[in-house]
Amino acid sequence: MYFDSTLILLLPGLILGLWAQAKVKSAYEKYSQVPTQWGVPASAAVQELLRQQGVDDIAITPVGGELTDHFDPKTDTLRLSEGVYGSSSVAAVGIAAHEAGHALQKKENYPFLALRTYLVPAVNIGSNLAWPIFFLGLLFSWEPLMTAGIACFALAVLFSLITLPVEFDASRRAMAMLSSSGYLTQEEENGVRSVLTAAAMTYVASFISVLMQLIRLISISNRRRR
Ligand SMILES: [Zn+2]
Repeated sequence: MYFDSTLILLLPGLILGLWAQAKVKSAYEKYSQVPTQWGVPASAAVQELLRQQGVDDIAITPVGGELTDHFDPKTDTLRLSEGVYGSSSVAAVGIAAHEAGHALQKKENYPFLALRTYLVPAVNIGSNLAWPIFFLGLLFSWEPLMTAGIACFALAVLFSLITLPVEFDASRRAMAMLSSSGYLTQEEENGVRSVLTAAAMTYVASFISVLMQLIRLISISNRRRR
C-alpha cells in the first residue's frame, strides 16, 4: 500500500462497494427464506429454463462456498453454490437464472462476453504487475516504467467496464426467461429482481473502485513529473 493524500480518491469506491455488498447480503438473506410456489430446486429450475430456450447441453454442478455461482464458458458448465443448487427459494432460482443468462450469452455469441473471456489472461497478468511496475518507476523516477504500470492497470479498468454490460444483460435474460416460463408469481419475480439488482450494484462499485485507482496512479505520476 502506498500512502499519500491521493488515497482519498479510493474512498467513494470503497464506500459504494461496502454498501452494495450489504445490499446483496440483505436481499439474499431475505429471499433465500422465501420459497417459490414452483417448488423445484434451482439446479432443476435452471435446467428447465434453458430447455425452454432450446439449450440442453449445459452441465449443472454444485460448487463450494457462498455466492460462488458462475458460468464457465470454456467447459459450458454452470456451477451453483451449495446454498443455491438444492434450494427452491426465490433468491436461489434468481441467481441460477442469472448464470443461465450467461450460458445464453455464449450460445448467442454475445460480443461482450466473448471479449471478456478473451481478455481474462491478459488482465490477470496486467493487474498483478501494474503496482510493482508502477512503484519501481516511482522509486527510480523513471517515467516509461510508471506509464507501463498505468497501462497495465488500465487493462483491469477496461475489463471491469466490459463486465458491466455482460452482467446487466445476463440479469435481463434471467428475468425474460423467468417471465416467459410462467413458473413464478409476480411477487416472486419482484424478489428475483431485487436480488439481481443488488448483485449488479457490486459490479458498478468494482468498476468505480478500479477507475479511481487508475486516476490515483495517474495523479501520482503527474505530481512526480512536475
Ligand atoms: Zn453474472
